[in-house]
Amino acid sequence: MSRLDVFINRMVSQRACLNHAAAATKGLRGPVFELGLGNGRTFHHMREIMAERDIFVFERDPTAQPDSTPSEDRLILGDVRKTLVDALTRFGPTATVVHADLGGQDLRKNDVFAKEISPLVEPLLAKGGFMVSSDRMYFAELEELALPPDAIPGRCFLYGHRS
Ligand code: SAM
Repeated sequence: MSRLDVFINRMVSQRACLNHAAAATKGLRGPVFELGLGNGRTFHHMREIMAERDIFVFERDPTAQPDSTPSEDRLILGDVRKTLVDALTRFGPTATVVHADLGGQDLRKNDVFAKEISPLVEPLLAKGGFMVSSDRMYFAELEELALPPDAIPGRCFLYGHRS
């Protein structure tokens, strides 16, 4: 499979999983977290599909164009290894959707990083909330959920509390 195919499958899967998580949590109150702004593509989409929700973006180096950058009060600036710890004090277990797309080209590095941040993400998710990730996560309690039909297995991961 070409790198182009892998990239397209990741984008299609991100959109499918985000749409699925937004629909499944529609009635829930609580913030939405975007981990990793990048060029703001997924943030822009999340704002469209969850317009009524408070979306906080965690990013250490925001460089997206203005129409894809959150307002200052919705941007949590810094390394997620610190800001996620602070977020638990500030928000508690209230996040209805957490989307993580923090990785780069090095898949081994991404996996090590996913292991490191999994215990920081896990306590933030509200009961009934959905966690969408581009990398496999390593949670103690949250379980991996079935992907929506239009997502490609291995290109996106979905997690939630055990029912
Ligand atoms: N989903 C985004 C989009 O659609 O444009 C792409 C995100 S990009 C792949 C990853 C982003 O995560 C980068 O902007 C990078 O600066 C950020 N990032 C990576 N490691 C981070 C860390 N430890 N703390 C905060 N941000 C981090």
